Amino acid sequence: MSIDPAYEMVIGLEVHAQMLTQSKIFCGCSTAFGAPANTQICPVCSGFPGVLPVLNKEAVNMAIKTGLAIEGEVRMQSEFSRKNYFYPDLPSGYQITQFELPIVEHGKVLIEDKDVPAKVVGITRIHMEVDAGKSIHEGVVGGTWVDLNRTGVPLMEIVSEPDMSTPEEAGAYLKKLRSIVRYLEVCDGNMEQGSFRCDANVSVRKKGDPKLGTRCELKNLNSIRNVMRAIELEAERHIDILEEGGSIVQETRLYDANLNETRSMRSKEDAHDYRYFPEPDLPLLVLSEQQIATVKATLPELPDAKRERFETAYGLSHYDASVLTTSRALSRYYETVVEQVKAGGQNDPKICANWVTVELLALLNKENKEIEQSPVSATNLAKMVVRILDNTISGKIAKEVFASMFESGSDPDTIIEEKGLKQITDSGAIEAAIDKVLALNSTQVEQYRGGQEKLFGFFIGQVMKATQGKANPAELNKLLKQKLGG
Ligand SMILES: [Zn+2]
Repeated sequence: MSIDPAYEMVIGLEVHAQMLTQSKIFCGCSTAFGAPANTQICPVCSGFPGVLPVLNKEAVNMAIKTGLAIEGEVRMQSEFSRKNYFYPDLPSGYQITQFELPIVEHGKVLIEDKDVPAKVVGITRIHMEVDAGKSIHEGVVGGTWVDLNRTGVPLMEIVSEPDMSTPEEAGAYLKKLRSIVRYLEVCDGNMEQGSFRCDANVSVRKKGDPKLGTRCELKNLNSIRNVMRAIELEAERHIDILEEGGSIVQETRLYDANLNETRSMRSKEDAHDYRYFPEPDLPLLVLSEQQIATVKATLPELPDAKRERFETAYGLSHYDASVLTTSRALSRYYETVVEQVKAGGQNDPKICANWVTVELLALLNKENKEIEQSPVSATNLAKMVVRILDNTISGKIAKEVFASMFESGSDPDTIIEEKGLKQITDSGAIEAAIDKVLALNSTQVEQYRGGQEKLFGFFIGQVMKATQGKANPAELNKLLKQKLGG
């Protein structure tokens, strides 16, 4: 993606991550997805007057955990505020959120992707807040229905610094952040179901200009691809306006994926429009060193650390290690393959990485499946790699075996047996095949002996064809050289 080279984009992202708590943030109602409308509500989350919110400690721990993972400063004292606005899906007329004193400040996330060089994106803050309900228009005549099941579900808003300058960087940032919250098991990262939502702040400025341009906020971005497309469209819109001598109006805009356009939604509110004030029904949130230490002890190995370990321990390339550590499940799968190949008496972490990143991920991608749904278990893939390494099958035949494993979920040994794919390592059998090929191609043999050494590949191909690809390549090479030489 590219824009007018005289300009640069300035991009900041706000991510709303729904925390994976069992109950809502200020009451005991369930957070389970997909229940019938208004079956998971109580007077607290329905905004009845006179009820008191009680803070869910699990949500606090998840926010602390995320803060520690991004190397942020966790505030020992944070505060909840009321953000006042009227909307039908917000029964209390205010949202409980954090404003002046959020739970986490000053973090950072390292981004990197295929076309994105490594870069650190600053995290301004992480604050906790409640989700609102859902207005339902579909199938409703003459009005709007409201489902409050989601009201009071705990969210973390993760606000980045405006440190990104291309849509690709924004995409890499979202991927990385999603991977982190998934590793931490604080959010399922599902953008389609709305548990990982993103708003993008976009402005442009002439290259080298230290002053920030007027920004617009983009909403309705429900996939990483859409975030990237919307950012580019919006930057182009700004540049067109500026080039024509106009000025940008600060506003909130909707991205329409069907028309691939952004359009005005409302003029942008400032903080004072919301009349923020400290939530009177909740005390200051005071953390203890002990609580932070306890949460810290539960931190798993995070993607960056794991990637480095994969590079050094398994000798993988930086790229392969990054791919394999994008999700906890994928890295676990890979490590299981490596361990079981070892248990099978062989050892080759690089081959294992190739089979996972190239062959397996390509097929999973094609069928839109996650690693957890892989028809080829880590154990079966390991068995197959062992069969390559002990020369039972060649790498080429392995592709056939693998495709068959992916289709049937079968054990590789069964497939090799049933299809008769065992490699021919018996030198007598290979020799016989070579003799046949040389007899059939006497002209080429003469040419080869006359100096056309390029023909060697031709003979290899013919023998492979004759043996249906099952001749052991090293053995074939050796024997063919001997025969042609003499
Ligand atoms: Zn409730």
